[in-house]
Amino acid sequence: MGRGQACGEVRIMETICSPGVMAAWADQVRLAGRTICLVPTMGFFHEGHLALMRRAGEIADKVVVSLFVNPMQFGPSEDLSRYPRAFERDAELAAAAGAAVLFAPAAEEVYPDGFRTKVSVSGLTETLCGLSRPGHFDGVTTVVAKLFHLVKPHFAVFGAKDFQQLAVIRKMVSDLNWDVNIIGHPIVREKDGLAMSSRNTYLSPAEREKALCLSRSLQLAGERVAAGEKDAVRLRDEIWQYITSYGEVDVDYVAIVDAETLASCDTITDKSLLALAVKIGRTRLIDNTLLAGSSF
Ligand code: AMP
Repeated sequence: MGRGQACGEVRIMETICSPGVMAAWADQVRLAGRTICLVPTMGFFHEGHLALMRRAGEIADKVVVSLFVNPMQFGPSEDLSRYPRAFERDAELAAAAGAAVLFAPAAEEVYPDGFRTKVSVSGLTETLCGLSRPGHFDGVTTVVAKLFHLVKPHFAVFGAKDFQQLAVIRKMVSDLNWDVNIIGHPIVREKDGLAMSSRNTYLSPAEREKALCLSRSLQLAGERVAAGEKDAVRLRDEIWQYITSYGEVDVDYVAIVDAETLASCDTITDKSLLALAVKIGRTRLIDNTLLAGSSF
């Protein structure tokens, strides 16, 4: 029985911290004719992460989960130092979800002294989250490029919760002729609709209640579109007002965009995506939905 396979009740997973060891492991797996699926994460796993890992296990022979809180994708005033971490728990959960390897490199190994390279996708990164988080997507594409080189995956799974990230990664892969098949996974939600996120842990009980303004506004928009609304500008204004009616919430953006190009739409089509970023207290949350009900 190979590593990462169920072994009675126990799952065997290897933890690799060294980039060199990771690349050598990937070479061996490829040499043996097996396929690899990568699930990049920043840890503090919830059901959303675990769903991606299980999906990865359906797609490829070996699942590699990377756990790296990537300093390059955090702005100077963002939450890098307080980002939640729970390594032992994460390792147990990844093993139970079928990972063969948990790749958890140290920041100094990923960005050694003298590191000077940046992978940057223009256009798609210059809107939505890119406006309030300058440099964020360069950090994402740079680290994902490094992970692709080290893990050498045939497939990689990303969540549609970070739909702009998914679009940017797809563009990077296509522009650079990368032989990695990018799989989008639908958003996993709490029972009451809140999109799962490691950052939900920051919310006080009162903020947790207010955070429902995001998913509820998506639901409201879906109802409006189902009832025939086609005017994206009017719908966007209504959603903005609905969210602010919760009080003490700070809207970063409410946008209706083309799901592929991320260009703003005036008219709602079956490719229109409603995307939100809202600050509840100090916590910035994002959510989105395709307005015509198809999925990534
Ligand atoms: P993170 O650890 O937040 O960087 O997320 C790692 C991966 O999990 C990314 O591809 C995210 O889009 C995905 N992810 C995070 N939360 C969810 C969720 N609620 N549903 C689906 N995917 C998610």
